[in-house]
Amino acid sequence: MIRPSATRIALIYPELLGTYGDGGNAIVLAQRLRWRGLPVEVVHVPAGEPIPDSCDIYLLGGGEDEPQVLAAEGIRQGRSLLRAVAGGAAVLAVCAGYQVIGATFPGGDGTVHDGVHLVDVETRRSFEPPGAPPPPRAVGDIVVQPDPRLGLPTLYGYENHGGRTRPLPGGSGFPLGAVRLGVGNGTPDRTDGIVDGKVIGTYLHGPVLAQNPALADLLLSWVHGSLPPLDGPPEAERLRQARARALAVS
Ligand code: GLN
Repeated sequence: MIRPSATRIALIYPELLGTYGDGGNAIVLAQRLRWRGLPVEVVHVPAGEPIPDSCDIYLLGGGEDEPQVLAAEGIRQGRSLLRAVAGGAAVLAVCAGYQVIGATFPGGDGTVHDGVHLVDVETRRSFEPPGAPPPPRAVGDIVVQPDPRLGLPTLYGYENHGGRTRPLPGGSGFPLGAVRLGVGNGTPDRTDGIVDGKVIGTYLHGPVLAQNPALADLLLSWVHGSLPPLDGPPEAERLRQARARALAVS
């Protein structure tokens, strides 16, 4: 029997972009493939190592301001992430990772750094007029109603960030969804994240794919084609419902 080649999931720089447990997104993707009897390989890419351009899904997590600057420098070198996406790979980038795949983002001292510019967004400590106090750090639960084009149920997570992120004028892509609780991008239109082709940026930690398995399956379907449905444990859906009730959103 010819076995399909393994789906390769790259976890990028977990020492720099692992502060908020987003490495769990790799575990969720891998397990949802295994439950379907499909082969998978999780490729850990330590900081300082070249990023392979041959993986199917790339995961970038959240991190502190200075590690995030180091991560951006590493990811820009060799341009392998840009090549992989041009070749059809998918990306899920969370918080610091989301900021890094944009055009620019602030370091800990407020200096603006170049990102990878995989998506047309920019991040600043504040978009308020000069002299106005910056907004407070966004910390807490976040609930997002996804864009209907994605066909996803409500997304739940938590956020913890100082940066605010907005689309570049004339840029491509659309927000991941509308913020119903929390801050997200922190833009006046109250959106979170961006979707551009097979690239998703978001402020949702959780890990987001553990709390939102439909989002995990969307990413997998982008690189794998349609997948047989998977009945998760009934506890998972009960937990989602309990969470919705606790946050008073349906
Ligand atoms: N350092 C970034 C900020 O505070 C990202 C934080 C995070 O990844 N949770 O905006």
